[in-house]
Amino acid sequence: MRAKPTIMKFGGTSVEDANAFRNVAAIVKTAVHSQPVIVVSAIAGFTNALLKSVEKAIAGDAKGATRSLDADLARHNAIAKELLKAEAATSIEQVIGAARAEIRQLHRIIAAHPVTSPPLQDEIVAFGEHLSSQLLAAVLREAGLAGSYVVARRCIRTNEEYGSATPLPSTDESTRTEISPLLHAGKIPVLGGFIGSTDKRVTTTLGRGGSDYTAALVGAALDAREIQIWTDVSGVLTADPRVVSNAQTIPVLSYQEAAELAYFGAKVLHPKTIQPAIDKNIPVRVCNSREPKAASTLIVSKSEATPQTVKAIAHKSGITTVQISSARMLGAYGFLRALFEIFDRHRTAVDVVTTSEVSVSLSIDDTSNLPELVPDLEQLGTVEIEKDRTIISIIGEGLRTTPGIASRVFSVINDINVSMISVGASSVNLTFMVDEAHAEEAIKRLHRVCFEEQKELSADYTDKKVGLRRV
Ligand code: ADP
Ligand code: ASP
Ligand code: MG
Repeated sequence: MRAKPTIMKFGGTSVEDANAFRNVAAIVKTAVHSQPVIVVSAIAGFTNALLKSVEKAIAGDAKGATRSLDADLARHNAIAKELLKAEAATSIEQVIGAARAEIRQLHRIIAAHPVTSPPLQDEIVAFGEHLSSQLLAAVLREAGLAGSYVVARRCIRTNEEYGSATPLPSTDESTRTEISPLLHAGKIPVLGGFIGSTDKRVTTTLGRGGSDYTAALVGAALDAREIQIWTDVSGVLTADPRVVSNAQTIPVLSYQEAAELAYFGAKVLHPKTIQPAIDKNIPVRVCNSREPKAASTLIVSKSEATPQTVKAIAHKSGITTVQISSARMLGAYGFLRALFEIFDRHRTAVDVVTTSEVSVSLSIDDTSNLPELVPDLEQLGTVEIEKDRTIISIIGEGLRTTPGIASRVFSVINDINVSMISVGASSVNLTFMVDEAHAEEAIKRLHRVCFEEQKELSADYTDKKVGLRRV
């Protein structure tokens, strides 16, 4: 029987320049015997540039839009020239030239008819992964590996929600149809993450950071042995390293912990990544492509019991809270249903909900439909909006069974105004809201007490036999 494949997803910073591509080839080389299937993001910064170019085109400047991409297109060419022999580099150059011509045409259409932009935006943005995957397949071949480019659009089938499409069940079969024959032929399939297509073969994308999700979908379709997310940090860390510089690698997480972390802002994993892994019980491993031997995080169905109750602190900024107050709520039924129907109707997802007798507070991170939403909410009661808020979420399976956790957490930040406290329905998280201006300080203090002092106390424990402080 053949071994099960291993999905290896490389993010944008793992393919930012020629050296990064070299590292990827070296990592794949060490995994040739585990049937690797490679999923790759656009090179770092290119998706942002593509999106900006669409804005320029919508504003009417089609020429400027295409020109704005030239430096990034040149980066692809430079990588090809540095890593590939002349013939292979020339064929990549042609692919890049053809991509530019197509993008140019799309920019022109958008400039002339801005209303056409959602599907055309996806068509343009998909060129990021379209180019990186062809380039990576060529680089692998140059390294003596059997890299074989796969058209991601043919694998991932989605609905028509451009910019944030939902995969259809037929993805499983189409992915197997495209990839299994290559694996049987001993090839290393390489496909772009993030992109899919509708039943009518129109290109879609899965939402920002969606290449992780592609990796999980492909893993589930192929019944993979493991889904590996190769990124620029050593696994999932105890907090966002951009806020807490000494955040530490978490060795093992449960699916549920990882899902909550991703949902509440840990950018290292796209929030939808975990579900396909759960469906097929496939382990997910998060590794550092810059230091392949550094610590990594393994995400499995049950995490091992660790002495710490808290595994990580996640946060999500740019949150808006909406409070609806109405005396009519008291003892009435149907109020919450009416409220959520309004959010449904305006296609606005709600993250956290807290209720009191006469008010409901909700948090949202997409405010694009707020102007239409508020008048409808005002039919139910008084509406108050607060912007620039941050959700902080303390995550760990042990929270379920640890008494007094909330008081200990909040005592560390008792001078910071906290609202919308909720213990997540899953009971692996304790979530609350602070003003964005105080978020960094709150996270740093919480990290200190949950992880840094814990270490000191742990050292103390052996000497002085003091109890471990559990937070
Ligand atoms: P990629 O391009 O590989 O997909 P991302 O930028 O999407 O990488 O995700 C990795 C980044 O996520 C890290 O560089 C880090 O800044 C950020 N991040 C936020 N929270 C965490 C966390 N808890 N653990 C690890 N990384 C985190
Ligand atoms: N390139 C896409 C983005 O930047 C998808 C990804 O990197 O996962 O959002
Ligand atoms: Mg990412």
